[in-house]
Amino acid sequence: MKIIRSLEELRSWRKKLAPDKSLGFVPTMGALHEGHLSLVHQSQKQCSSTVVSIFVNPLQFSPQEDFSHYPRPFEQDCALLEHEGIDLVFAPDAAQFYAPDASTYVLEETVSQPLCGSFRPGHFRGVTTVVLKLFHLVQPDFSYFGQKDAQQCAVLERMVRDLNVQVQIVKCPTVREPDGLALSSRNIYLNPLEREKAPLIYQSLKAAVDAYTQGERSVRLLEKLGRSILEKEPLFKIQYWEIRHPITLAPLDKTDPLATVGPEGALIAVAAYLRKTRLIDNWVLNEESLRKSK
Ligand code: AMP
Repeated sequence: MKIIRSLEELRSWRKKLAPDKSLGFVPTMGALHEGHLSLVHQSQKQCSSTVVSIFVNPLQFSPQEDFSHYPRPFEQDCALLEHEGIDLVFAPDAAQFYAPDASTYVLEETVSQPLCGSFRPGHFRGVTTVVLKLFHLVQPDFSYFGQKDAQQCAVLERMVRDLNVQVQIVKCPTVREPDGLALSSRNIYLNPLEREKAPLIYQSLKAAVDAYTQGERSVRLLEKLGRSILEKEPLFKIQYWEIRHPITLAPLDKTDPLATVGPEGALIAVAAYLRKTRLIDNWVLNEESLRKSK
């Protein structure tokens, strides 16, 4: 497995790839877990070569967020990827990746506004900018993203559409712990008590889905029900618990959440602080997920 840090070296590696072979790309911030690996496996299934990037992108963290504490077990990550048979790890150096006087950004102005966008100003500008830069460098045919970050997927799909980027975004299902907690590099911040409480986020999503299955159709009441489950636990501070259109992220009509969306379904999205750790999760309510949840 090759590890490349320099942008020039990456470009020359890319030029040497046979044009008839497909290239899959999995952008990550490292601290890899089974969620990341599921994207890697999907890429390996679909593509002749797979590149994984490991880059803790300073641009998507605001000053009060956890950029400096973010876990960076680089050697362990590389060992995992080598074991998976990855072709190349691209781990650029932040100082080379962003010119010190960089002043050009990618701004998506609709899908990035609600939900996480309203609590993390500048976050999605950092995501779109880093991902477009990575796409230019890696030039993949397919790029793999986790449904766990549903808004990120929606923003990037919009960016790719609007800017005619020649990459197909592939969304992969959320990988969970047996108790329902979505895997996240930030779960290591949780102490034993917090870890015990964390699956309540998943339970709140599941409760709304169950209520829907049992006939509740009011978006407002489903949201109220989900929220009330998290609110019972004082360690949680909810940022949002909302049902939205899965592509535009627009709020839905107050009647049946599935009445006005396409076959993709309705997105139920949650963000909450569990003491100091910010957790997000979501559930796509559609025919398929309803069948599986029974
Ligand atoms: P990150 O390293 O947190 O930036 O995540 C890199 C990629 O892995 C993103 O596309 C995430 O959505 C995806 N990812 C993170 N956690 C999970 C998970 N539990 N299941 C599936 N994909 C995930």
